[in-house]
Amino acid sequence: MDEFRFELALCSYLESETGAIVARQLGGAVAEPGARIVDVVVLQPGTAFEKRARLSPKAIPTRAIESDVGAGQAVPRRNVFEGTSRGRRIVETAVEAGYFQLERRDGKDWVRATARYPDDWYDRLTAIENKPDLGSPGDLDDQITHDVALGLFDEVVLATASYVTRAHLNRLPEPVGVWQFDPETGERTVVREPSRLPVDDPGIEPTDRHPLRTDVAVVAPGEKRRKRLTIAERAYGKGWRPSLEAYPACAHADATGDCRPYCGQFGHVVDPGTDCGTDCPSFTPGSRPTCDPTEVRADRSPWIADPPGAVRKQAGLDRFIPREGDPGDERLSKSN
Ligand code: SF4
Repeated sequence: MDEFRFELALCSYLESETGAIVARQLGGAVAEPGARIVDVVVLQPGTAFEKRARLSPKAIPTRAIESDVGAGQAVPRRNVFEGTSRGRRIVETAVEAGYFQLERRDGKDWVRATARYPDDWYDRLTAIENKPDLGSPGDLDDQITHDVALGLFDEVVLATASYVTRAHLNRLPEPVGVWQFDPETGERTVVREPSRLPVDDPGIEPTDRHPLRTDVAVVAPGEKRRKRLTIAERAYGKGWRPSLEAYPACAHADATGDCRPYCGQFGHVVDPGTDCGTDCPSFTPGSRPTCDPTEVRADRSPWIADPPGAVRKQAGLDRFIPREGDPGDERLSKSN
């Protein structure tokens, strides 16, 4: 069993059994972004989850959420993020997500948020490291040590298909939970429950490992809070399914009912990025499968693909003029 198939089977199981938002391959480091990619993130909805879901199906940029642009507070577009090119991209992404809205007044473009961003929309973030075969643990020790010392996630779990011995458990830091998961039957055994990590305390992030020492960075609680919001937003926007464009145009390509890429020729789930393409000896030109990951995700999880009342995507960001009766305006007046 390769890690990709194991991971997708676990994501599907968690989505159907926990009612949570499940996502794959998200950054889990602060001081060295990109240095740690977490296999699976599980987001447990909080009290205001529905308000967030009604805002947008996409990830909203953290800098947009934290900016001076508020729901009742239009800001001249050129003042947002001081008109930098990075700032312009953030505004465009927030508009694409439907969180920001552009208006034209007095010959100027103004930006405002379409609704107040909700607090407490997620309750808990769990990081899961997949090691189907504990006989080939790879970087497991470093990955787990990183996550526990940094304390960015509320919980850290190791998921494996292997039989877990007492020696395995003793080698893992105490707060780490352990699940044994069978990707064929979808059965999960909780070998050890995870303990809560101190997410509101400063964290210690290993940044560089040498034979006799490890360099670390101290990460302040505020930086962790910000990164947690980014992770939550990315998890909400991204989910775990590969996009359909990633599937090969191969006659053997198919999809399971929960929209995992499946190969009819080899009889199992495949990773289109590494298993498929013209390099595959059984590749036969054909059409892509017809599974709709968006529809399946909306059916099987609390994620809302097309929330009622969300602002329509604004075409032509440079020349937007608000329309009377725009649902975004309607919602804005309710939220004020
Ligand atoms: S490219 Fe190969 S692995 Fe991928 S679907 Fe076609 S036959 Fe299967």
